[in-house]
Amino acid sequence: IIIVRDLNKWFGQFHVLKSLNLNVKKGERIVICGPSGSGKSTFIRCINHLEAHQRGEIIVDGVVLNEDLKNIEAIRREVGMVFQHFNLFPHLSVLENCLLAPIWVRKTPRKEAIEIAMEYLERVKIPEQAHKYPGQLSGGQQQRVAIARSLCMKPKIMLFDEPTSALDPEMIKEVLDVMIELAGSGMTMLCVTHEMGFAKTVADRVIFMDGGECVEEGPPQSFFNNPQQPRTREFLDQIL
Ligand code: ATP
Ligand code: MG
Repeated sequence: IIIVRDLNKWFGQFHVLKSLNLNVKKGERIVICGPSGSGKSTFIRCINHLEAHQRGEIIVDGVVLNEDLKNIEAIRREVGMVFQHFNLFPHLSVLENCLLAPIWVRKTPRKEAIEIAMEYLERVKIPEQAHKYPGQLSGGQQQRVAIARSLCMKPKIMLFDEPTSALDPEMIKEVLDVMIELAGSGMTMLCVTHEMGFAKTVADRVIFMDGGECVEEGPPQSFFNNPQQPRTREFLDQIL
């Protein structure tokens, strides 16, 4: 469902992504880890064109990602994204946050959009917060709203960029539980995270990036127990 071939990106002179290749099948769960500045965020942001790439090819659900606005919009409709800092609209209630894209992008009738939104707010276990504003919620609750808001668009793919790294420890689990449930439902997921417990239980494959390159990739079992590359071992020693 995602094909990345020879993906290269520069920020000015700085070669930030170096010939990345990735094939993600429908329903697969990929975890990307690596040191700060290794290009993880830039990589997943390229997949829904929050960043432009300069060389190589990205194909999402059969649509080639180029500068054609039609293609970019088609891809963004199918790809949900959750960020480290929630990015909710503070002046809109939880429910209105969840209605915005379905009504304006998908042209869903308001009544139906509300039903869908409430369904997903239940799924992330905060239907009772629907009429509050983001500022009135805990970090974990806000992140669950952000996930529900993405799901309201019924995406085929979900991208997560360190969704738990801004949260206090006691709130990490409630967000990971939602992500685990989502994985169980068959969602195709690409997650940048350092939650190695999550990677071990949920990921089909773990990718280790360093210096803009994919250094190592494998199923969690071999990735964690028997990493092949010295750089991977060094990284795992530091975080485990
Ligand atoms: P972290 O774990 O800290 O989130 P990351 O792996 O997500 O790191 P990126 O945010 O993808 O790393 O950044 C990769 C590199 O590109 C870093 O060296 C960063 O300074 C640089 N970079 C990121 N965004 C820009 C930008 N808009 N302009 C110039 N350089 C950038
Ligand atoms: Mg990042």
